[in-house]
Amino acid sequence: SAVPLGDFLQRIATDFQPIAREKGLELRVLPTKLTVRSDPTLLRRLVQNLVSNAIKYTPSGKVLVGARRAGETAVIQVVDSGIGIPQSKFTTVFQEFVRLDEGARAASGLGLGLSIVDRIARVLEHPVELKSREGHGTDFRVVIPLAEAVEAQTEIVPAATEVRQTALAGLC
Ligand code: ATP
Ligand code: MG
Repeated sequence: SAVPLGDFLQRIATDFQPIAREKGLELRVLPTKLTVRSDPTLLRRLVQNLVSNAIKYTPSGKVLVGARRAGETAVIQVVDSGIGIPQSKFTTVFQEFVRLDEGARAASGLGLGLSIVDRIARVLEHPVELKSREGHGTDFRVVIPLAEAVEAQTEIVPAATEVRQTALAGLC
């Protein structure tokens, strides 16, 4: 279904605001008018895990949550100024029960959050990208089709849209 990212991201951040404040972290959501086509329940669980990590693995500084447009997609970004993830671990952190030494020292957890992110991303077909530098911070991105892209097609090619909407219904 159509998910308006402005409200959606703001609501998630509001839930985490007390935890961020307790650590003295600035948790900020950049306003956005983008609307994506996704499953709100699964997408919320995905973003919650990223925001949870961003707060947990950032001793000081800030966590930014936002979305920007890239062609026919929206890219949700969760950016932190935390301990970072070494490039050699970019694949393994998504596996179940994997926790890095630095992370394990910084906060408690089971090592499941990113495996859930990975599973949801595969089900929804939303690619997840990871950029990070040890000691500087981490930037997780989720690429999601814009809702407008589907609606715009409705007006131009109705027949093709029917096919496309059926395919999308199967996904969600
Ligand atoms: P859980 O999510 O189950 O409570 P967890 O946070 O340790 O536990 P994941 O969310 O799967 O597990 O993350 C796996 C590991 O990846 C973490 O233990 C940590 O070492 C590293 N990690 C994840 N996100 C970040 C981040 N934003 N900055 C630095 N390290 C991170
Ligand atoms: Mg986690």
